[in-house]
Order: sequence, then C-alpha cells, then structure tokens
Amino acid sequence: MAAAAIAALVVLGGIGLIQSRPQKHATSSPTATTAPTPAPTAVPTAPPPSGPIGAITTTREVTVRTQPDGTSGSVSVIRPGIVLPVAARTGGFVRVMTPCERTGYIPLSAATAIHDPPPARTLAGATIVIDPGHGGTEDGAIGPHGLKEKDVNLDIARRLAGDLPGARIVLTRTGDYNAGLSFRAAIASDLHATAFVSVHNNAEPDGPSSKPGTETYYQLRSPSSKRLAGLTYEELLRTLEPYHVRWVADRDAGAKYRTSTSGLDYYGVLRHSTVPATITESLFITNAPEEALLAQPSVRQAIADALGRAITRYVTTSDPGSGFITPYKRGEGAAFSLPTDCHDPS
Ligand SMILES: [Zn+2]
Repeated sequence: MAAAAIAALVVLGGIGLIQSRPQKHATSSPTATTAPTPAPTAVPTAPPPSGPIGAITTTREVTVRTQPDGTSGSVSVIRPGIVLPVAARTGGFVRVMTPCERTGYIPLSAATAIHDPPPARTLAGATIVIDPGHGGTEDGAIGPHGLKEKDVNLDIARRLAGDLPGARIVLTRTGDYNAGLSFRAAIASDLHATAFVSVHNNAEPDGPSSKPGTETYYQLRSPSSKRLAGLTYEELLRTLEPYHVRWVADRDAGAKYRTSTSGLDYYGVLRHSTVPATITESLFITNAPEEALLAQPSVRQAIADALGRAITRYVTTSDPGSGFITPYKRGEGAAFSLPTDCHDPS
C-alpha cells in the first residue's frame, strides 16, 4: 500500500470509511475474458492531503450547535462514525451539514478531518466518494422476495471501497440512516473529490430484454462525468452479460443523462455535485431473476469489482467509455425529499 494511503488511514481510521483489505480483482467476475486493469505500478508517493477541511468523521457523540461554541442551541446530535461535509471552519469549530440536512457547528475535537486532496492522476492520489443510495426509512426499490435496494447498495459500496488500493475512499452513508441528496453531494463537492459514484439498482423497466438493462447517468455539462458513466457502463455490462437470466430493461438502457423541466440534471446527486459524478443502476432489483442475482455475495462482489475497474480506468487513462444513448423523454415524477421527521444518526 502506498504511503499516502497509510497516512490517510491514520488520519481517518473511521468505520466504513477507508478499507484497506487487498484488492480482490476479477477473480469473482464470471467473465473469463475480462482482464483486470492492472494496478498502477511505481505509484509516486503523494504528500498527505493538507488543503482545507472538506469533510469530517465524528469520533464521539457530538451536539451540532447553532453557533461555533459549546453552549448555543442544539440543532442535532450525531453518533460516532458519521461522515459530514464541511462548509467552513471557524477556529476550532467547523460548520457542517447533517444527513437530515440541518446545518450547524461542531468542535474539531469531536472529529477527524478529511482534507481536500491534490489533483489525481493515480489511484494513490485520488479521493473517491462512494454513495450508497437510499437508507433509513427510505428503502429504495424492493424485490419481489423482499430484498431492499438500500441494503444491497450499501454492501456493494463497502465491497467497492476494498477494490481501490491506495485511493482515499469516503462513503456518504456508513449505516442504515436517511441522508439527503444535497448532503451526499456536499461530501463529494466539499472534498473536491476525484470522482463521485452513486450506487443504485433499478425498478420499473420497460420490458424483457436480451441483455442486462444496466444504466448509468452522467451530468449534463460535464464531459468528465460522461466519461465516468461510459466507463462504468462498459465495465458493468461486460461483467453482467455472461449471467443468463430473464433480463428486463428500459428501451434506452445505456450511459445517458436525464434533464429536468428546468433544463438541469434531474437527479439531485448529479445536480448538486460540483465534481464529476455518475449514478449506476446495475440491475433491476424488482425483476425476480435479477433480485436473485443481487442476493448472491459473489454477484455483489463482481459488480463492485466492475465499478472498481471503471474508476481505476477513469483516474489513470483517458479511455472514453461506451454505451452512450440518447434517452427518451420521461415525466418529472415527484421530487425526492427527506421525511419531515428525518432522524439524524445519533
Ligand atoms: Zn435507487
């Protein structure tokens, strides 16, 4: 492991944030033709990040207060091990946003700081923010046999964290709690992350398909996001195609965008993120044969490995990706919002 990653581990040390287990490459992938992208060799030793604080991980239970002091009103209480984006620093305090999107101050003594990284050309210099979709009272899509998208997404995200040797990994959600879309995107934006990958599985297909209905979404105005989505689509499809099940898909499966009626990115995590981001919809969890695949640890690992190869190629090559498709027009649907009684993880 590169020295920089060890330094980051020392700095972070938080549960679910950085995982240092060695890379398990495509051994669990069903496709023998998929050669794993080799890990970069001769990785230069980057200095530990020393820029502004982009996010923190709580190290003890801490009260979020209205002012940068120890006595003002309580906004929320947060348990240890939660990642929070940092908007500003005031002396020994940082202004944070909670998963329920309340803002206030906590003392730095109750947290470990995650500093802004330098630009990355190697995995060792990269900060990858992984976003396990949904959580808490929001299950996401549910399979016919009860498998919940929020649980599958978190498991894939944790496996992916182990697939990026040397990179600094930050999960936007480290357990089963509600987290707002602005909150998730703020972690990536405030950290100036190299890439932001939101892990999901799909629902409501158009119909049967001869191949996996994998979809990835990119940000309208970001060529880097488009490349990230294209690489992610390419690796996911190559990994999932060898499984032979009754697939379902949308007619416009592929690497694509979705525009809101106001001309912006429809999906909040893409709209709010100021760094290159993608949403990955690997399989349709609402389709029983695909739910059965997602229930298998080996398939979740294969999906994580595919995402890991895509992120590695995004950081270390200029490969363009593939599968780009012009989406058909969709209705707007109800906007996502946090529950009015959203509970921060205390
Ligand atoms: Zn989802």
